[in-house]
Amino acid sequence: MDEADTKLRKAGGRLCCICNQRRAALKRPKTLEQICRECFYEVFEEEIHQVIVDNQLFKPGERIAIGASGGKDSTVLAYVLSELNQRHNYGLDLFLLSVDEGITGYRDDSLETVKRNEMQYGLPLKIVSYKDLYGWTMDEIVKMIGLKNNCTFCGVFRRQALDRGASLLKVDKLATGHNADDIAETVLLNILRGDIARLSRCTSITTGEDGPIPRCKPFKYTYEKEIMFTYAYFKRLDYFSTECIYSPNAYRGFAREFIKDLERIRPRAILDIIKSGENFRIATSTKMPEQGTCERCGYISSQKWCKACVLLEGLNRGLPKLGIGRNKGLNNDRKKDAKQTSGAKSIESKQCGTLDF
Ligand code: SF4
Repeated sequence: MDEADTKLRKAGGRLCCICNQRRAALKRPKTLEQICRECFYEVFEEEIHQVIVDNQLFKPGERIAIGASGGKDSTVLAYVLSELNQRHNYGLDLFLLSVDEGITGYRDDSLETVKRNEMQYGLPLKIVSYKDLYGWTMDEIVKMIGLKNNCTFCGVFRRQALDRGASLLKVDKLATGHNADDIAETVLLNILRGDIARLSRCTSITTGEDGPIPRCKPFKYTYEKEIMFTYAYFKRLDYFSTECIYSPNAYRGFAREFIKDLERIRPRAILDIIKSGENFRIATSTKMPEQGTCERCGYISSQKWCKACVLLEGLNRGLPKLGIGRNKGLNNDRKKDAKQTSGAKSIESKQCGTLDF
């Protein structure tokens, strides 16, 4: 034990178990190691870099949109990606892409955060709004349908809005801030719902390669606690943390609490659930939806009309329940595909801004 170590221990502190020089400032949630801030920043960023490299998430020269809600995940993603892009010469053109759902008192405030991030990180920002794309804000939709099923509309519209925004930006890929907790939560939810089609793809780090814009999740193995309570907090990043005023989603909330309980007992549980999801083998007899395009708007769809068009038709006709649950009527002639209950796919069905994109 050297002199610095002895002094530190006398002062009641512990040395960082990585550098063995500085005082440990935190217990790392993922591994429970006692480490200093500097070493934490380094391992946190380098682990993400390794995930990007190992999974070949990006190619030099690509244009990448970062789904930015102003929440902690997407704010940390924007910050870390721009750091790594410079440090490791990824050669990427990065953009921020936000969706304005039209939720007064929530999204308008969080978009102010994204606008500040645009200046802070020097990343160009594009905002697409439900009002422009669909003619409806979420405030207007909730006024018509109430607080039941509002997240179905919002989730389906958001997925398509992100694709449309990404195509306006002419990007090659969309990076989202889904973290390890989100993915473990989605594995669990898909098991609870018996949704085999989604279970098979919800752990994929890149999805939508057959669609208009592939999506990737650089935080697939990054713990929420490390993003929010540690990295964002110590780095003093500017993010928005208020919940959506229309947020119900008790079922997902239950799955989240369950995972948090498991994590308290055994932090590795999150990674193990993801690993279990990755190792599921889907029986070849399981019928998967066939991808086609929506006859109305041309968007990717396994039915005659995509889910967004069905929901929109219901709203415009004053029959908002038309597209909820199993489709009747509008997609009848392709009823065999009606088992697919939502146009929102896999982990992207994570539906809200408090959960980020
Ligand atoms: Fe949309 Fe999320 Fe709010 Fe639901 S909770 S209305 S999905 S922003």
